[in-house]
Amino acid sequence: MHLVNLKDNTQQVGFCDAVKTGLGRDQGLFFVEEIAPLADINAALALPLVERSQLILQHLIGDEFSEGELNALVEAAFTFPAPVVKVDEQTYALELFHGPTLAFKDFGGRFMAQCLTKISQGAPVTILTATSGDTGAAVAHAFHGIDNINVVILFPKGKISPLQEKLFTTLGGNIHTVAIDGDFDACQAIVKQAFDDPQMREELHLNSANSINISRLLAQVCYYFEAFAQLDEAARKELVVSVPSGNFGNLTAGLIAKALGLPIKRFIAATNLNDTVPRYLETGEWAPKDTIATLSNAMDVSQPNNWPRIEAMVEFGIIDKDIITGMMIDEDCTQIAMKHLQSVGYTSEPHAALAYRSLQKSLAEGETGLFLGTAHPAKFRESVENILGEPLALPKALADVAAETSLDVDKPADYQAIKQYMFDILK
Ligand SMILES: *Cc1c(COP(=O)(O)O)cnc(C)c1O
Repeated sequence: MHLVNLKDNTQQVGFCDAVKTGLGRDQGLFFVEEIAPLADINAALALPLVERSQLILQHLIGDEFSEGELNALVEAAFTFPAPVVKVDEQTYALELFHGPTLAFKDFGGRFMAQCLTKISQGAPVTILTATSGDTGAAVAHAFHGIDNINVVILFPKGKISPLQEKLFTTLGGNIHTVAIDGDFDACQAIVKQAFDDPQMREELHLNSANSINISRLLAQVCYYFEAFAQLDEAARKELVVSVPSGNFGNLTAGLIAKALGLPIKRFIAATNLNDTVPRYLETGEWAPKDTIATLSNAMDVSQPNNWPRIEAMVEFGIIDKDIITGMMIDEDCTQIAMKHLQSVGYTSEPHAALAYRSLQKSLAEGETGLFLGTAHPAKFRESVENILGEPLALPKALADVAAETSLDVDKPADYQAIKQYMFDILK
């Protein structure tokens, strides 16, 4: 795999180096300049999830792992299904929340943990990541108990759901969690600063596990194929995929799937009130505002860090910008969508519901909609129960952690304080 730093194209790396370093020089993202289509889409679609994913990842990554090595990584990472459920006459949900932390981030987190453990071969690594909710849990679970890998997770204090928080703050061991007095963008800014600090990079062997890491994105490409494989011929014809978006890693993965030849007609970039991208697609002006706290808190991002990759795909001629429709769904509409889904027999949560609502507003006759169910409704139990007025049963993974003690520490949104803390616990 040949990747370039999007801010400095003299820096060119392979897949393993990009996984190890996360971000390139000047905080540039690594990305491909071209994507060769898969030779036979129909043959790929006929395979089961794990085998098809091995084929796709082999095609994208190339020969940096042997076929046997890569197959083993994929098999260890993809241990749960991604079912497509029919929601109404024109619409399906792709449920990505059947993994250990009940969110789509298990796919990327687990594949990244497999890749990094293989690539680092026992050398010490510190994973530093910011989370607006689900990344923290997925990454923490994926790396928990792995020798020589420490994980430091920064999250905005009081801004993510208590159950979500418990999924990663209760693990302990090599998982260190820090509640930052600030919003997600403040956490992300600290992570970026750490990667710009040579002392941190070199002495702590820093690695980022947020959706900046290319391995996470590639893993996510696989479930777009899985969704397509489960749809019948009529539904495949004019398929519109609605992606509830925050940092836009998920949408980037969908666009890669399309570039590989998966015949998705178009995508909806669905956001909550943090609508930098929909406004940009409408006006051509990139004008982030302050981040607003919403019901769909995992998407409370006003400066999405994967957007430059989507821009690059357009610039390199890999995809056409016209296939992306931006749509902002406000808090009222999100609640209406959840109630409507409940009335047709589908219990949902704010992130997926706003993606569903976007389809309702956008689908033309003859089109079929698919929205991504990015997290299990029980991860947002408080708001879901409030809005739907019904109690929600907790799946076992959540019931188990709900009773455990959180082990996180509180810190200000201050880079030096975080740096000091990390040296104290890791050196
Ligand atoms: C992370 C997350 C999103 C946003 O995904 P991006 O890839 O960052 O756009 C949406 N929904 C849920 C539940 C999430 O955890």
